[in-house]
Amino acid sequence: MPIRGPLRFADANSEFTESHFVVIGAPFDKTTTFRSGTRFAPTTIREASANFEPEMFEHGLSFSDIPFHDSGDLFDEGAVDEMVASVEEGARRIVEAGKFPVVIGGEHSVTPPVVQAFGKDIAVVIIDAHLDYREEYQGLRNSHACAHRRVADIVGEGNVFAFGVRSVSNEEDYDSAVYVDAFRIHEHGCEEEFERALSCLKERPIYLSLDIDGIDPAFAPGTGTPEPFGLTPFDVKRVINRLGGRLVGFDVVEVSPPYDNGNTSILAARFIKEVIAVKWKAMNSK
Ligand code: MN
Ligand code: MN
Repeated sequence: MPIRGPLRFADANSEFTESHFVVIGAPFDKTTTFRSGTRFAPTTIREASANFEPEMFEHGLSFSDIPFHDSGDLFDEGAVDEMVASVEEGARRIVEAGKFPVVIGGEHSVTPPVVQAFGKDIAVVIIDAHLDYREEYQGLRNSHACAHRRVADIVGEGNVFAFGVRSVSNEEDYDSAVYVDAFRIHEHGCEEEFERALSCLKERPIYLSLDIDGIDPAFAPGTGTPEPFGLTPFDVKRVINRLGGRLVGFDVVEVSPPYDNGNTSILAARFIKEVIAVKWKAMNSK
């Protein structure tokens, strides 16, 4: 699996073998339908990461003390199915070494192969404006519009839910999908609704997939299919902190730099830091 790219995520100064967290870019937007450009996101998110201090005072830690590595970007010029195979291979290398993968998309179709690298014994939380539950889209089972459905194929229905949804199509089998819609979250509060959804999952390690369009376009305008009435960045911070030590992997997908004013990449970089900080803190408090 070829890897390229000299740019590294800020403070990712450790070698692979000594790291607990490994960042990998998956710059693919092969099935994006409305506005493409997510293939540029691994670069802009890494650039944005240089914006922050290593210290995260609310967590009481500094990134200069966290062993993490940036493996660069996966590289694949093939069609979507080859891309999926390449992402699975890249993720498997990290998961089999007992490390925590942090995947920077790319479009949402990079998520199922990362989940596949873990196998069926994890649960998955997806933050997304869209249900992504189509059996196939435009003839492609690996379309980004099918990401949630493909994850459910791997971990089983009932071991995955989507949070922040406000776009569902009649072409989707939405009765069999588990999701919390954004209107309900606004009505009852993020913490209450997330707690309720989380209590329906089995006690398994959790993989978190953040489709950046789950957040309101006011905060995250740089994405391919923006939807109003989204979550706030603070909602997502609460979700990450609630999952804490149960987290075993993370991706942030669907950031589209050509439509960004810069803030979306900055937000994505900040969430990567949040996930690593929260997990590291949990690991070291036992
Ligand atoms: Mn999605
Ligand atoms: Mn989406």
